[in-house]
Amino acid sequence: MNYDTQMLSISSEDIDKAAMLLREGKVVGIPTETVYGLAADALNESAVRDIFKAKGRPADNPLIVHIGELDDIYKYITEMPENAHRLAEAFWPGPLTMVLPKKDIVPYVTSGGLDTVGIRFPVHPTAREIIRRSGSALAAPSANLSGSPSPTSAKHVLSDMNGRIPAIVNGGECTVGVESTVVSFDERGRVVLLRPGFVSLEDMQSIVGAENVICAKGVTEELPDGERVMSPGMKYKHYSPKANVTVLCGDMDKFTEYVSAHSGDGVYSMLFGADSEGYPFPFACYGDTADEQAHRLFAVLRELDEAGARQIYARCPDRRGVGLAVYNRLLRAAGFEVVNL
Ligand code: AMP
Ligand code: MG
Repeated sequence: MNYDTQMLSISSEDIDKAAMLLREGKVVGIPTETVYGLAADALNESAVRDIFKAKGRPADNPLIVHIGELDDIYKYITEMPENAHRLAEAFWPGPLTMVLPKKDIVPYVTSGGLDTVGIRFPVHPTAREIIRRSGSALAAPSANLSGSPSPTSAKHVLSDMNGRIPAIVNGGECTVGVESTVVSFDERGRVVLLRPGFVSLEDMQSIVGAENVICAKGVTEELPDGERVMSPGMKYKHYSPKANVTVLCGDMDKFTEYVSAHSGDGVYSMLFGADSEGYPFPFACYGDTADEQAHRLFAVLRELDEAGARQIYARCPDRRGVGLAVYNRLLRAAGFEVVNL
C-alpha cells in the first residue's frame, strides 16, 4: 500500500484505465449515487483483502457486491424470494441492497464469512460502466477509512485513501449522500430493514404492504451488549468525525439554550438552515429537507473536523422517509449520545 494515487476523470479512456486496474486485481475509488465506493473484483480474494486493508475494516463486516446488469444476479445468488423480485422491479437500478443466499463462487472474504451476500444494482452511469468494463461484479464498501464519515466527493476519498490505492475516478458529488438501504428477508419472506437509506421504509411498504416490512432492532437504538446482530455493520461505531457528536432533540429555543450553557472553544452547532438566522454560536447547516440533509450530512461532518471542532451539537432530524437514514447515521456518528431537551 504505497501508491501514487491517480485522479481519473469519467472520460471513456479513464474508465478503461479504471477497469484495467480492476481486472488486474487492484482497488479503485469509484463514484456511485449513494457515496464513493472502494471497488475491487468481488470474486478475486486477494483483491477483496486489499479493500479491507486499505480501509482498516474488520474482516467480519461483509462487502456489498455491485452488479452491472440485472441478469447477472443469478451468477451470485441461489434464490430470490417473491418480495425481493417486487423490490427489484420498483427500486433497481438504485440505492437498495438485498441480502440473499450466496453461491459458492462468492468468496467468504467478500461475504464476511456469511452464507449470504448483499447485492446492489446501482443506477450511477459511471459506476455501471466501470462494472461492465471490469468484466465482473465489484465488491465496494464506502471509500473512507473504517469508522470515519463516508465520502461523498472524490476529494474526501483522496483525503482518506491517498497512497493506499492506485486510482480514484472523479464523478463529482454523490447525489444521495448516504449509503444504500440494506434489507434481508425472514423465513416468511418478509422484508427486514437492516440499514435505512434513500429507498425508505414507507417506499418499500407501498410496494409489498406495510405488514410485510419489519425494521431490525438496532436501526434507531443501540443494541445491548452481546445481542446477536442481523447485520455485522450494526455493531461498529460508524461515520464519526474526530469531534464528539451529540444529537439534541427539541425545538430551536431549547437547542439554543442548551448550546449557550455548553458553548466554548471548538464547540460547533449543526443546524438545518432556516433556523440559522441570527444564531449566535459557530455553526454549519446540513439542510432543511431530508433529501438535503442526506446529501450534506457526511460532508458537513468532515468540514467541521477541518474547522477544528471538538464538540458538535446537532439538531435532531425528522425521521420520516429518507430522514430515518439521516437519523440512523447521525446517531452512530454520535455513538448514540442523544439528549432529549
Ligand atoms: P458498507 O460497505 O460500508 O456500505 O457496509 C455494508 C453493510 O451492509 C455492512 O456493514 C452490513 O451491515 C451490511 N451487509 C452486507 N452484506 C450483508 C450480509 N450478507 N448480511 C447482513 N448484512 C450485510
Ligand atoms: Mg461504510
